[in-house]
Amino acid sequence: MQVLPPVNEMQRAFLASDASYNGVFYAAVRTTGIFCLPACPARKPLPENVEFFATVKDALFAGYRACKRCCPTESTAPEWVRELLARLDASTDVRIREGELREMGLDPGRVRRQFLRDYGMTFHAYCRARRLGKAFESIRGGKALDDTVFDSGFDSHSGFRAAFARVFGTSPGPARDGDCIRLSWVQTPMGPMVAGAVDAGVCLLEFTERRMLEVQFDTLRQRFHLALVPGETAHLEQLRTELGEYFAGTRREFTVPLAYPGTAFEREVWTCLLGIPHGETRSYEELARAVGRPGASRAVGTANGRNRIAILIPCHRVVNKNGGLGGYGGGLWRKRLLLELEKAGGQRLLDIV
Ligand SMILES: [Zn+2]
Repeated sequence: MQVLPPVNEMQRAFLASDASYNGVFYAAVRTTGIFCLPACPARKPLPENVEFFATVKDALFAGYRACKRCCPTESTAPEWVRELLARLDASTDVRIREGELREMGLDPGRVRRQFLRDYGMTFHAYCRARRLGKAFESIRGGKALDDTVFDSGFDSHSGFRAAFARVFGTSPGPARDGDCIRLSWVQTPMGPMVAGAVDAGVCLLEFTERRMLEVQFDTLRQRFHLALVPGETAHLEQLRTELGEYFAGTRREFTVPLAYPGTAFEREVWTCLLGIPHGETRSYEELARAVGRPGASRAVGTANGRNRIAILIPCHRVVNKNGGLGGYGGGLWRKRLLLELEKAGGQRLLDIV
């Protein structure tokens, strides 16, 4: 189950055709019986004729039909995407051709659009990146290069080497001691999040519609000098488990290792954030004093906003001195809910909204 932002926020996002809310809610129009994505380009109805749903299923069960312009049913990450990803992970070849997609009852064009929307790459590019990620792991695990090339479904050594070097910026040889950033997706009651991990720990956790995501990817590449590839690791598994417990109200502290390189000042601010206990908040001014820079609350706010590991490095626990919420990259409604969840202590998020 998923929670919804406040109605006035959804109304504003729907009127503005704000694509960053796609997947967060669906807008249904009583007068036409049609439901849309927030970003639908069609003319917007009067606010009093609109109702909101968290899922396509809810809108369909309420009797609405999918809009033919924005195709909301095609734009959610449904069961078939999970099945497709599971199938990709189970096969050694990590390649599914158009014919196979059709045999699975999937339209290749729809698959391509879905992956472009959710992962920022076509299905073809995703498969390729996933294949290279697997090859990287197997070389690191000590497997012979010849076997790896063959297992990855490449026809030739040169083709494999070229593709590998393009993604990892190094030849398969030195990769044996190397690292990369594995990216995966985590479902939460507040919407999907993208997560990343290196050997040292989790290095990214962001709500997927956050506009800063592309910038965060670039910063990660620069900070770690590593390639980003879709993949799973023990850190990401642990993150999923701990986040599930957090939203269920049974976890107050996270134990999964974190990796968060930054400038000296950013590191200081983020370390300070990690010291704010669950259920408490600090003002930007207090945080500035804590890092020994009283008066630098604006700079502290900026460093706070550059946090790449939402929830675990609890930047949501920093609020305005007057009690206002301040800002939040993942949307203020999420900040408010996170704080309510932590204050409620021991209740599930879904029970307090
Ligand atoms: Zn529409």
